[in-house]
Amino acid sequence: MNRRELLTAAWRGEPNDAPGPRSLRWVRPPYALDEPDFLRKCTGCGDCGTACPHQTIFALPAASGWRAEGTPALNLLSRSCHMCDGWPCVAACETGALAVPDHGNEELPELPKLARAEIDSDACIAYLGPECGACAHACPVPGALHFEMGIRPVIRADLCTGCALCREACVVETKAISISPIVHTANTPEPS
Ligand code: SF4
Ligand code: SF4
Ligand code: SF4
Repeated sequence: MNRRELLTAAWRGEPNDAPGPRSLRWVRPPYALDEPDFLRKCTGCGDCGTACPHQTIFALPAASGWRAEGTPALNLLSRSCHMCDGWPCVAACETGALAVPDHGNEELPELPKLARAEIDSDACIAYLGPECGACAHACPVPGALHFEMGIRPVIRADLCTGCALCREACVVETKAISISPIVHTANTPEPS
């Protein structure tokens, strides 16, 4: 087995703590098309997962339904998305299932919205008294995570990408930042 086959085999392996099938919608890789279009274009080739240097992408298992089986999702609860320069996962996708929007001008495209990140103020130690700033130092998006009055972390939903780097950096054992899929519109068909 050559290196590419090894990497592809590793991508196919589902992490133990991958999101449960159908429990909530899965989180797609950066710049995934809307779910119906994504499912039409994605061949499940695994190239995005193979290209991901952080092993953040895994293939959905058979229990996800025949349309979704083998298509890529992110396992943000154990591996955050590093929002890599040049988006190697997107660059590897030859079908256009992952595609950075082309605005037709020189403006940088908007950052992708991967998931919803929320602070649990009952678990965050900065809300309970002691100082902490671990999450803020980890956030790669200017302004997405700021400290209210210099003390308590607050996430701005409009700027946050849901990359989960702040959750990964959170120092308490039961993480004080939750990451949940952004549930799409009622028009999004359930893969089955
Ligand atoms: S941006 Fe980087 S870390 Fe995130 S899924 Fe793509 S390749 Fe992986
Ligand atoms: S590279 Fe594109 S077509 Fe292949 S599995 Fe990833 S998203 Fe699907
Ligand atoms: S607040 Fe957390 S999830 Fe949101 S962009 Fe910053 S590090 Fe990523």
